[in-house]
Amino acid sequence: MPLIVLSGIIPLISVASFYATENASKKITQEATENLDLKSILLAENIQDWNESNELALLNLSQQPDIIRANPNTQQTILAKIVNTYEHLYLAHTINLQGWNISRSDGKKPQYYGDRNYFQDAIAGNPINYQTIISRTTKQPSLCMSSPTIRQEEILAVTSICTDLTALTEQVGKLRFGQTGYAFIVDQNADLLVHPDPALISGSSLTNLSQYPPVKNILEGNVGNFFSFTDDNNVKWVSHSILLDNNWAVVVLQEEADFFASKIEFQKLAFFINFVVIVGTSALTFFLANRLIEPIRDLSEAAITISEGNLDQKVNIKREDELGILAFSFNHMATQLKKSFEELQQTFQKLEKAKEEAVLANQSKDQFLANISHEFRTPLNSVLGYAKLLQRDQSLDADQIEQLNTIQQSGTYILTLINDILDLAKSQTGKMELHLKEFDLLNCLNGIIRIVEREAKDKGLKLKTQFKNLPNTIIGDQKRLTQVLMNLLNNGIKFTSSGEILLKVTLVETTKNRNLPLQQKIRFEVIDTGKGISSQELKKIFQPFEQVGNIESRYLGTGLGLSISQQLVELMGGTINVKSKLGKGSNFWFEVVFSQETISSNKSQQPYIGVIEGYKGRKRKLLVVDDRKENRLLLANILEPIGFKVLMAENGEHMFTVLEKERPDLIFLDLLMPVKTGFTSAKQLQQESEYNDIPIIILSACSITPEMRRYVNCKAFLNKPFEEEELLELLAKYLHLEWIYRKKEEISPIPSYKNPTKQPVVS
Ligand code: ADP
Repeated sequence: MPLIVLSGIIPLISVASFYATENASKKITQEATENLDLKSILLAENIQDWNESNELALLNLSQQPDIIRANPNTQQTILAKIVNTYEHLYLAHTINLQGWNISRSDGKKPQYYGDRNYFQDAIAGNPINYQTIISRTTKQPSLCMSSPTIRQEEILAVTSICTDLTALTEQVGKLRFGQTGYAFIVDQNADLLVHPDPALISGSSLTNLSQYPPVKNILEGNVGNFFSFTDDNNVKWVSHSILLDNNWAVVVLQEEADFFASKIEFQKLAFFINFVVIVGTSALTFFLANRLIEPIRDLSEAAITISEGNLDQKVNIKREDELGILAFSFNHMATQLKKSFEELQQTFQKLEKAKEEAVLANQSKDQFLANISHEFRTPLNSVLGYAKLLQRDQSLDADQIEQLNTIQQSGTYILTLINDILDLAKSQTGKMELHLKEFDLLNCLNGIIRIVEREAKDKGLKLKTQFKNLPNTIIGDQKRLTQVLMNLLNNGIKFTSSGEILLKVTLVETTKNRNLPLQQKIRFEVIDTGKGISSQELKKIFQPFEQVGNIESRYLGTGLGLSISQQLVELMGGTINVKSKLGKGSNFWFEVVFSQETISSNKSQQPYIGVIEGYKGRKRKLLVVDDRKENRLLLANILEPIGFKVLMAENGEHMFTVLEKERPDLIFLDLLMPVKTGFTSAKQLQQESEYNDIPIIILSACSITPEMRRYVNCKAFLNKPFEEEELLELLAKYLHLEWIYRKKEEISPIPSYKNPTKQPVVS
């Protein structure tokens, strides 16, 4: 972490200090330059002052014509006074128009100046003239200035003063800056007038510097600039020059290394400071990082521990700063989290308990329903079965037949009630399922009509059918479709006192997609002219146990029919709709799509007792295993008349004793039996190679669950009270039987039942 911090900080510091150093050294360079500039300006100003005082001295003399007109001795006195007044003057003299001295301050005999430029320029009328020379008197560079003395525009004579340059030399010579900085002065001809080195300004003539780079630069017109050059000794210099009014130039110069020395010094210092700053920052960063990172590390470790489920984790940081507040908040959060978790856990435990209780309650409800169902179905199996068998007895009189009908009707009603309650329980737990099978639709519809038409007739109602374009066979759950239609038709009959009930079944559309079986949408409608249902009541009729209308009509039903029918139709992929008008009648309809795989043209007539006389081939042996004698006898009574030999056993164990003596072609096995149950017996049969090829049909009053189907290895399940057709169908299927039917005239009429919701049950 500190390394990460440093790797971020050091480049920043370096860049910042680089810029600071650069800026500072620029400033230093600027200051040095300005310094050089200032020095040259000061020097120039001094020389200017000096020059002005010279001019003043000259003009004092030249502008007094009286002096010229005075005799030479008087002139000398005046000239000497001037020379004494201006200390750097060494000579003042007057020159006549021929070039000879009229008088001289030094009293020497007159000399000839007619060849000097400054004399000639003055004669020419120039007010002030300059000439630098090596003085014949001092053998030093000197400045001679001249001015004409004019009276009434006539030049009377020339006045001249000469000054040595010692004053300047002193000044310039004293001027030193840095190790190497100095100044020099050249005149307008680039002749050297003043220089700290006396050797350069002594001799018989002035040294000309016109080829010396800084001077050459001035001659080229570059005055007032900084100029860098390398001298003959390969030393680099920086120079600056100023031009004076008299066209002299002051040049100041310094070796470049010297000039930048302070800058280099500064850079060294800056480098040192940078170094100290970086090292210091690094150390400080390490220190601070440890102070900051440690608590943060503590916090993150605590966060990880908490996320792993340890809610007792606390951060031990006691500080007053933001980190301290963070740690406090963190600990607070952990406490809150723990509290919330505990509450959540308690709620969860309560919920779990409630769920367990609900599951248990549900289980006991299921168990209760299963038991009830079993307890009712078992006796009903006998009641309904024997009632039906007895009805066939030709010797019964009309009263006895009526009594048998009442027994059958009541039994069927109880069965309906049980079935409805079981269906409701199944639908509520999502356990209701369809068993798809190919069946003959028309046959099925006619069967339904046969069952309900007697009831309609008894009430003086017309039962009409209207079947349009119906396919021969469809694949669906025939039992459940029948249940729904029976319910709707029975309701129609129940709630209609006059008029008619129409069952309308129409093929709505056929769709054929490639590789898919034919899809046929069929609409089923039950229309009655009954009492109708009000719009208020319409909302309730599909709810379980909802019976609407007047009290009398209620006892006829359970209030479950429509609710279960709705669920079944939904399971088939449709919805029951209803349109009704009070006093006019009701119209219930639904549409379901069936697939039609094959059309079996030679489908045999539905087999049922009364139609079948026997079967072809050898006599088949059937073993009925049931703990209840009446159930065993019922099967024997049904099957023996059509040519089967029926063996019987009371329980599983007994079954094996029977099996030791006789081998049946098929076994009907009850599930709930004392000593050895059907479950164990079926398992055992399966395990013994001697018997495992005997087909088993489970015949039980238990409601069969999918788990049971998986558990018991059998050919088929048949629920008590069973349907005769189904029983015979199964026998035909597993024993490969071909039925022998009775002749038409021998067939007795089928009994019908009051208000059944199931097809007739035979057991
Ligand atoms: P129930 O066993 O009472 O017939 P259902 O669930 O089948 O139960 O019907 C619920 C209620 O809907 C009935 O009690 C009745 O009031 C009303 N109902 C059903 N079908 C009809 C009909 N065709 N005409 C008038 N009322 C009907």
